This record gives sequence, structure tokens and C-alpha cells, in this order.
Amino acid sequence: MSVQVVAAKMAEVELKDVSAGKALPAESPVTPTSEDKTLARNEPQKEAGSSAAAATSPTAEPSAKAGEGNRGLLTPSAAKMPQASALKHSDPQQNGGDAFVNRDGTVAEAPRMKKKKIQFADQKQEFNKRPSKIGRRSLSRSISQSSTDSYSSAASYTDSSDDETSPRDKQQKNSKGNGDFCIKNIKQADFGRREIEIAEQEMPALMALRKRAQGEKPLAGAKVVGCTHITAQTAVLMETLSALGAQCRWAACNIYSTQNEVAAALAEGGFSVFAWKGESEDDFWWCIDRCVNVEGWQPNMILDDGGDLTHWIYKKYPNMFKKIKGIVEESVTGVHRLYQLSKAGKLCVPAMNVNDSVTKQKFDNLYCCRESILDGLKRTTDVMFGGKQVVVCGYGEVGKGCCAALKAMGSIVYVTEIDPICALQACMDGFRLVKLNEVIRQVDIVITCTGNKNVVVREHLDRMKNGCIVCNMGHSNTEIDVASLRTPELTWERVRSQVDHIIWPDAKRIVLLAEGRLLNLSCSTVPTFVLSITATTQALALIELYNAPEGRYKQDVYLLPKKMDEYVASLHLPTFDAHLTELTDEQAKYLGLNKNGPFKPNYYRY
Ligand code: NAD
Repeated sequence: MSVQVVAAKMAEVELKDVSAGKALPAESPVTPTSEDKTLARNEPQKEAGSSAAAATSPTAEPSAKAGEGNRGLLTPSAAKMPQASALKHSDPQQNGGDAFVNRDGTVAEAPRMKKKKIQFADQKQEFNKRPSKIGRRSLSRSISQSSTDSYSSAASYTDSSDDETSPRDKQQKNSKGNGDFCIKNIKQADFGRREIEIAEQEMPALMALRKRAQGEKPLAGAKVVGCTHITAQTAVLMETLSALGAQCRWAACNIYSTQNEVAAALAEGGFSVFAWKGESEDDFWWCIDRCVNVEGWQPNMILDDGGDLTHWIYKKYPNMFKKIKGIVEESVTGVHRLYQLSKAGKLCVPAMNVNDSVTKQKFDNLYCCRESILDGLKRTTDVMFGGKQVVVCGYGEVGKGCCAALKAMGSIVYVTEIDPICALQACMDGFRLVKLNEVIRQVDIVITCTGNKNVVVREHLDRMKNGCIVCNMGHSNTEIDVASLRTPELTWERVRSQVDHIIWPDAKRIVLLAEGRLLNLSCSTVPTFVLSITATTQALALIELYNAPEGRYKQDVYLLPKKMDEYVASLHLPTFDAHLTELTDEQAKYLGLNKNGPFKPNYYRY
């Protein structure tokens, strides 16, 4: 049975579950680009007869039906598909250096990992020339940004720091005698298996995909090389891909985020995993190379998070792209790199931008932050939220999530905004809209969520009251002018990992979290359920690209069809015993919709 047929069958199964047994008619899952996104995006080409929703799209017409001929979960019937990628949540200890102690009026800067982007063109990797242990560590200073600055659900509970031997110096085999992996310690496999089983509970869509695959293999023949966080959630994704027929080789996209015990469980299960927590830069690239540079095995799909794997193949093994059918990329950084390649006419295979799918944006930015803001603050400061005065700078998705959580905890929340629309939303949601200056003296907590720079500057920091907590939830560490605090009259005291007290000459101290880097990325974890949504989207993107008929996708960057986003969401609904209402024929006609979606035009904002 061909892969296509299999996929179609799976799609039918899906329909029964999602649409109460009614099959979806063939439909073009058009995915116009969002009009307000700055990056140009492409979509699969579609045939004539697109849906009403597609017709309203402000973007260019695709040229083939996404999902059609692609058999599988993504066929018209399968119309509703997701992407999957592991969000990245870094190790709580990451970048955490020792305290900056200023005992004599001078500022002592403790050693920190600087996040720098690797310049691929200048990359000179000499794998035969092994660095010394110290050398390996120092190399990590120039690791790529994406390899240090990303989410994972972090939390590796196994501390193997007592074992100083580099995994590269160890000969390990799993219980079946297979040694095609390089991890910290294969003996931790049982513990890792338990972690994976816990994650499975919160990743219902991937588990559903496995069930629905039952013998059918839409990824049969797929050789997926992956570079993502190696966490329990990623393990659930990898094992799902394997259940769908793929062979996988995997490296970590972040030098800190690997859960060693999970890597061990994967290796024990027969996966070729090359990753451990605390890799050096040299290790990082060596692991990636071990995934792709292997005799008798060549990848035909890439699943990347940050773009490092893709670029490694570009620089080192460009010929591999002759056999590669597509790239699935999850991160902002990686997607940006892909668009750059595309713009330069150098992208030689189709790529799926998972980062900008609706389900990723909405669930990651809003719901994930709604949960993790409290977690991050609590873990670092043990603060009580009830009655505390908090100012949240920026009322976009992240700000909305933070405000909602804090309000629910009984905090008095102020909002600052520059955009009158978001400002009005804040007012209508019951928050006081203020200028930062107006409340800076009285607030107990300051949270930035703007994606902007210098939102909190020295003048604000000087005026804060004693004990004020300052943190950032935005992407980069530019929002709080931390550099302005490195002056001789201020003393820095590291009181906990990721927690600095900055002390003024009059003994006032403010509490700075994660040195102004992303709070939840640095100090908490991300809910597995959110990761499930991204991971499901990744899996479906792989299936779509792998099975797409010739010509549907060109050498460009695509968003997944909206129907796939809807499908991802639908796969998560049973968790809540949620009952979706179906359009009647009459209603569908009235709204000009296909009964099985997509239900919204691509410019709809949700
Ligand atoms: P967004 O664009 O929806 O919201 C940002 C808001 O900040 C906008 O409404 C903008 O008008 C406002 N703003 C800009 N400059 C401002 C200023 N000087 N003062 C007050 N308000 C200002 O973006 P978003 O999705 O909410 O993301 C915000 C940031 O958080 C981004 O950097 C994003 O990359 C990051 N992010 C973080 C996480 C996380 O887990 N912490 C998750 C997703 C995104």
C-alpha cells in the first residue's frame, strides 16, 4: 500500500473522530499569509476552487492542494493538522555565572556565557583535533545564540556532574549491543523512560497520531535528522515519528537543555542520539556532524530548531540536499535564516515555518506565559502575589498572559503601552493604563513584555522602592537597561541562581532576575501541553512535506495550511472532553464555509 493511500486512510479515521463520522470533502487548505507579518511567507500552491476563506485571503494563491496527494493525516479529510516542535526552555542554570560582588566600590564582573551567533562561513571545525577539557569549556563561549537561548521544558533532574568523563571518551552500548549514540550515561535509561511516560500524559495529540497510525506508516522511508531540545517532550515526538515509520538521528539544539536520562532512554530504545547536558561548542557541532555524517544513511528530512543543523548541512554537505525533501523549522531564529536563504535564492528545498502558525503563536505567547510568569517569579523569589502592585510593560500576547495570571492571584496590575489599541484592550480588561514614571515608586514588581529596548532604564531603577523585583518576559535582554547598573556605586550580590540583588549606597536593593533575560526561559519550565501543540505541528509538517506531490511546494518557506492548525487544535480537544459544534449544511452555506474548515480566513486574529 502506498504511503499516500495510507495517509488517506488515516485522514478518514481522523475525520470520524473530529467530525462525528462525517467525511470531509476535498478542499484546498489555503493558508494565506497574515497581512501584518513583516516576513513574506509562501503557501502551498492550490488548485482552482479554493474555499471561501481562501478567497478572502489577502495573499497570493497557492498552486496545489495542500494535503491532497499527500496521503496521510494531511489529506483534505485530514485537513486539520498541526506542527510540532519542542518549545525551548533552557536549563535554569544556563548562563548562570557566579555573583557579581562589589566589595570595594569597583564592579566585579563574574564570568558569564556570552551569547554569540556562530558565523558559519568562518566555522573551522577540526574534529580530529580534540580540545582539552578546559578548551572544550572555553569554546562554549562562542556557541550560537540559538543553541543557548531557547526553550525547553528544562529540568533535567539527574545530576551527573560527578562523572567528569566526556561522553565522547566513553564506549557505551545499549542492552541490545547497539552503540550508535553518544550520551552521558546509558544506565540512566530507566529513569528517562519514566520521564517520557510522564510527558506522554500531557501530549495527547501525538499519542493519538500513533494510535491512528496503527500499522499505517505515512513516514515510511523517511530518514529524519533532528536538532531540537532533547527533553522528555521531544522523546515523545521522536517515538511518534518512529511509530509513523521514520528513522531518526538526533542532536541537541541547545548545549544546556538535554535531559541526560531522556537521551539515555532514547538510546536504549534504539535511537541514534548525540547529546548531553553541558556540551562545549566543539561537542555541539561534533554531535550534529555525527547525526548527518554516517555511512550508509542519508537524511531526507530535516527537523530543526534554531537553524544550526540546516546550516551545518549547507556548509558541510550541500550535496545532501539532493535527497532532502524538506525542512521543518520551529524557531524565530531558524525561520529568519530560512527566509534569508530564500531571499538570496539559496534555499534548495521547501521549508515549513512552524514558528508562525496560529497555534504556536497563541499558545506559546499567551497561555504559556500566563502559566510560567508565576512559576518563574515564585521559584526565584518566593514572592506572594496577593495585593502586590505590579506593572506590566506591553499588552501584547505575552503581556496579556502575564496580566491575567497576576490579576487572578489578587495582584493590583498596571499596564504601560504605546499602542492605543492594546492600551484600550488593557483598559477594557480592567487594568489601569499608566506611564511607567507614574507608578515606578510604588510598585513591587516590574515585568517587561514589549520586545523593545530600554523600556526600564536607570532612572526608573533609581526610583524603585526597596525590594522591587525587576524581570523581563520579552525575547531579548534589551528591555531592561542592565548595563546601566554596572557602575561603581552599586553593589551586586548574587543571592540565588538567576537572582541578583543590586544595592544602592543608601542600602536600597532591587531584585533583578536572570540579569534581564527571559524570565521563564531562564528560571522556570514550560507546560508540556503547550509543547505538545508545537510537537504535533512539527510531526504533521514532516508528513506533509514528505508526502507532498511534486510541485506542491517550491524551494521556499511555507506556513502550514490553516486546516492543519485546526487539526492540531482538534487533536487536543478530547483532553478536555470538549464537544465541538458542527455546522449544519444550511449554516455552512450561509457563512460560505466548508463544513470541515478552514473556519477562518487567514487574516483572522483569534
Ligand atoms: P506583541 O507585539 O504582541 O506585544 C508587545 C507589545 O509591547 C505591543 O503591544 C507593543 O505596542 C508594546 N510596546 C512596545 N514598546 C513598548 C514600550 N516602550 N512601552 C510599552 N509597551 C510597548 O508581542 P508578544 O507576542 O506579546 O511578545 C512580546 C515579547 O515576548 C517578544 O519579544 C517575544 O519574542 C517574547 N516572547 C516571549 C515568550 C516567553 O515565553 N517569555 C513567548 C513568546 C514571545
